[in-house]
Amino acid sequence: MILYSTNNKENTADLKKAVMKGLPEDNGLYMPSEIPQLPKEFIENLSDYSFQEIAFTVSKTLLQGAIPELELKKIIENSITFPAPVVNLNEDMSVLELFHGPSLAFKDFCARFMAQLMSYFNRDEDKELVILVATSGDTGGAVAAGFHKTPGIKVVILYPSGKVSHLQEKQLTTLGHNITALEVDGTFDDCQALVKKAFLDEELNKDIRLSSANSINIARLIPQSFYYFEAYKQLKTNKKVAFCIPSGNFGNLTAGLLAKNMGLPVHSFIAATNDNSVVPDYLSTGKYKPRPSVPTLSNAMDVGNPSNFARMNDLYCSTWDIMKEDVKGYSYTDKATEIGVLEVKNSFDYVIDPHGAVGYLALKDYQKTNKDVHGVILETAHPSKFLPDVERILDMKVDVPERLAILADKKKESIPTSIEFNPFKNWLLKNF
Ligand SMILES: *Cc1c(COP(=O)(O)O)cnc(C)c1O
Repeated sequence: MILYSTNNKENTADLKKAVMKGLPEDNGLYMPSEIPQLPKEFIENLSDYSFQEIAFTVSKTLLQGAIPELELKKIIENSITFPAPVVNLNEDMSVLELFHGPSLAFKDFCARFMAQLMSYFNRDEDKELVILVATSGDTGGAVAAGFHKTPGIKVVILYPSGKVSHLQEKQLTTLGHNITALEVDGTFDDCQALVKKAFLDEELNKDIRLSSANSINIARLIPQSFYYFEAYKQLKTNKKVAFCIPSGNFGNLTAGLLAKNMGLPVHSFIAATNDNSVVPDYLSTGKYKPRPSVPTLSNAMDVGNPSNFARMNDLYCSTWDIMKEDVKGYSYTDKATEIGVLEVKNSFDYVIDPHGAVGYLALKDYQKTNKDVHGVILETAHPSKFLPDVERILDMKVDVPERLAILADKKKESIPTSIEFNPFKNWLLKNF
């Protein structure tokens, strides 16, 4: 498998380099140079396959021998370890629940698959790989759970003390084994600055094999394509199918486009955003104007310059009129989002989180003019991740899944850290 940089197709890498490096030097994003077609027979008989078998066939086809089949099978078995069920709201609308993993969000699929790939590519190295991650809360939880007990890999998570939620902190600080949490006496930006400095420090990089769990790593995108096939398999409709994707950095949507390009018959994609509507604005005007993000209720989508837009553009050869045929954009205010959460509860007796609610509103608007299309909303996180807001909007108690609830009693273990670089560096040198 060859990948190229979206900034320069001459700048290529194999899968190992793309995964271990994360980003090309030219600041583009890695994209597969070829997107192979899945056999028609496979697409027509998806229901004969388990989720793991689907993931195996899709990845085998996409990776084109970059990983031997037996090894790839193991990677899939270790990363696709929870289901992605489709729940029907009514005849025309379904929800694809992507929150059955340890941190209750779709990012669990990404983190686990990336951990397995990195562990595979690191297998012949004498030295362990040390992953540094700065987190404002959410990503860190998925990365910690995804990399937990992965052979040959240690993870150091830096989080701002007192600035993540209680449960988020527990997700970062209670796993132990190969996961260490540094509690930084500063902000998220301070955490990020420490990590960036570490990557640039020659002495550190000579002694330690450092890597990042970057959100734009191609290893995170690939597993996101699997669940589109898994969802399609579960649908009981003769209608055309649209996927509606609550979006921030547009990784999920890009992975859907990848699935379509490999042969999944998707009629359209609906890009649903909150007030951070750079992509819906692009789809309606043809002008891409990134801008600073504004905070909203669906905060995992507060992105002002979505990183995967470069990949979407690449798939459409930077041609606006073709992209807007396949991708429809909608955006909603927080006020509308609250009404969406309420409406889904009242109409379908389903508790949806604020991100999913943005998706619901977009699908409803889309179907006003597309009555012949069945829509699948990606429910990107469990509503209990946004407990105070959801309980306030619905004026009721929301169940917290046991895997999150049990964290409350676990003991936090973190290492207090200042925002000075040298003590951090010395700690790394001493411990790895
Ligand atoms: C990360 C995240 C998103 C945004 O996904 P992208 O792939 O970046 O568009 C949406 N909802 C939730 C709950 C998330 O955690």
